[in-house]
This record gives sequence, structure tokens and C-alpha cells, in this order.
Amino acid sequence: MMEKSITRLPQTDRAPIRVSFEFFPPKSQEMEQSLWHAVERLAPLSPSFVSVTYGAGGSTRERTHATVARIVKETSLKPAAHLTCVAASRDEVDDVVRTYRQAGVNHIVALRGDPPAGIGTRYEPHPQGYATSTDLIKGIRRLGDFEISVSAYPEKHPESASFDADIDVLKAKIDAGATRAITQFFFDNQVYLRFLERVRAKGINIPIVPGIVPVQNFRQTASFAQKTGASVPQWLAERFEGLEDDIDTRRLVAAAVAAEQVLDLTERGVRDFHFYTMNKADLVFAICHLLGLRAKIEKKAA
Ligand code: FAD
Repeated sequence: MMEKSITRLPQTDRAPIRVSFEFFPPKSQEMEQSLWHAVERLAPLSPSFVSVTYGAGGSTRERTHATVARIVKETSLKPAAHLTCVAASRDEVDDVVRTYRQAGVNHIVALRGDPPAGIGTRYEPHPQGYATSTDLIKGIRRLGDFEISVSAYPEKHPESASFDADIDVLKAKIDAGATRAITQFFFDNQVYLRFLERVRAKGINIPIVPGIVPVQNFRQTASFAQKTGASVPQWLAERFEGLEDDIDTRRLVAAAVAAEQVLDLTERGVRDFHFYTMNKADLVFAICHLLGLRAKIEKKAA
């Protein structure tokens, strides 16, 4: 459970809450509609940026580019395009970066990516590709003045030998030019707060924005968490126990759990939140409402 005893961060109660939303590129017409419904519903909350994830295959990548392009064209939102080193040469990755630049995209979430053969297998870089996320950041920096966000792992990356090694990698990414880290999701706030203390003790001062995942479906989330090395506390499993076939109650419980998590973090001075939306708006909208955000209706100038 979330204890209340850990060191509190300096209170910055009057600083505004800032949120960002992560979407994934849709695979079908139906998913496209649900994505755009979510974008339209969440846009009036004036997020700092909205990010679009990047996949391994060529067609997935095209969908990322198309989604980012549509956000630029049809909304006033600031897009952040995720980009990985996986299965592409440096030239190919550089071309993607240049294309984003030309399209007016100035923010990239730079990642190594998962092993092409699947999570849990050994990562083999493309022979002509960027070998690590740090190399990718250096490459992006050479191509222009981008805002670069990176990942951070409060429970360490599953491939890392130790927490210290993982934090050294984070430091290298910052030294290469990253200005914000977004965390892997977590459910126990102690995990994030302890990580923050460790990171700050190593002299890392950039924002480490907590990644929040509202639990749309407990089984799926738990299975994904296992692959990514995020722990699922027993108390969380108990909250969703017996609700497998009760979608309505599950949604109410999910909203309550996520609200409890973010409100606890605000009490500890956290002001920035990144939501893994899963392309669904309702839960995230409700949680943002509880955080005090209110919709502003704004139309993009013609
Ligand atoms: P990195 O920080 O690059 O670390 C990966 C591993 O390599 C770690 O074990 C690290 O210690 C090690 N390492 C890194 N550099 C070195 C070095 N120089 N020497 C030795 N070891 C090193 N995946 C996608 O495919 N598409 C996405 O859009 C996507 N978005 C994500 C967004 C966020 C916020 C997060 C947290 C993850 C995202 N992922 C995405 C998942 C991510 O690609 C995987 O977790 C991947 O396995 C690691 O990539 P990374 O850049 O996060 O990790």
C-alpha cells in the first residue's frame, strides 16, 4: 500500500498541474475513430504535449508518422514523436527525424526500443544503426534543436544489471541532450519517490515525469507489467478481484485507484503527469478533472 511516511518533496502547491498524454497509432479504421475521439476529448485540457508511440514494423511506423502529421494539421496540440533505434540504419532514422522537422515536430521521445525478437531476448542493434538510446539522442541533436524526452525506470530496466547502472544510463542520456524523462508506469508511489531520491542524489535534475497507467483491464495490465519489469502490488490485484466480467465496476475502481495515486503524488509536490491513455479518454479525463484541470474550448486558427 502507499505509505504516507516517506520524505515529502518540497511543496509547490501553487505551481500549476501539467499533463501530457500518450497515444498509440491505430491499426484499423475503427481504432482510428476511437483514437480521434480520445484526442478530441482530451485536447481541451491543454496538455503540455501529446506523444505517439513507435512500433517495430514498417507499417506501424507509417501509422505513427501519419498520426503525428494529423495532430499537427488538425489540432493545436504539441506532438512528441516516439522514435527507436530498432531495425533501422542511422540514415533511415535520420530521415525520419528530418521529416519530422519539416513537418514542424520539435519534440522526440528517443528510445532504444525492445529487442526485435521480442521482450526477454537479447538486444542486437542494427549493424548500421544507432546502438543505444544515447547514440540516438546524439544523432538527433546533430540534426537540429529538438526537445528530447527519454524513458526512466523506477524499478530498473529489466535488462539492467543494477539500479546504479540504469541510473548511469539515464545520466548518459541527459549528458547527450535529453531534457525530460518519463517513467515506466508504476502503482506504488514509494517506488517512484525512492527512485527520484536516488536519481537526485546522482545529480540528475531534469524533470522525471511519472507515467500513469489507468487500469482499463487488470489482466492485460498485469501481463504487460510482468514483461516490462513493473511490479503489481497484491493490494491492486485485490481491488480488481472478481471484476473480470463487470466492466462498469471495473472502470469505477480503475478511476478510484488512479485518482488515489495521482492525488497522493500531488501531495508530495509532483506537478507533472504523463498518462498512458491506451487511446481511451474517459478515465484520463476524469482523473485530470480531479487534478483540477478544466476543459478550454479552443479552435485552431484557419
Ligand atoms: P534505455 O535507457 O536505452 O536502456 C535499455 C537497456 O540498455 C537498459 O538495460 C540499459 O541499462 C542498457 N543500456 C543503455 N545504454 C547502454 C550503454 N551505453 N551501455 C550498456 N548498457 C546500456 N518502445 C517502443 O518500441 N516504442 C515506443 O514508442 C516506446 N515508448 C516508450 C515510452 C516510455 C516513456 C517508456 C518508459 C518506454 C517506451 N518503450 C517504447 C519501451 C522501450 O523501448 C523499452 O523498454 C526498451 O527495452 C528500452 O528502451 P529505452 O530507450 O527505454 O531504454
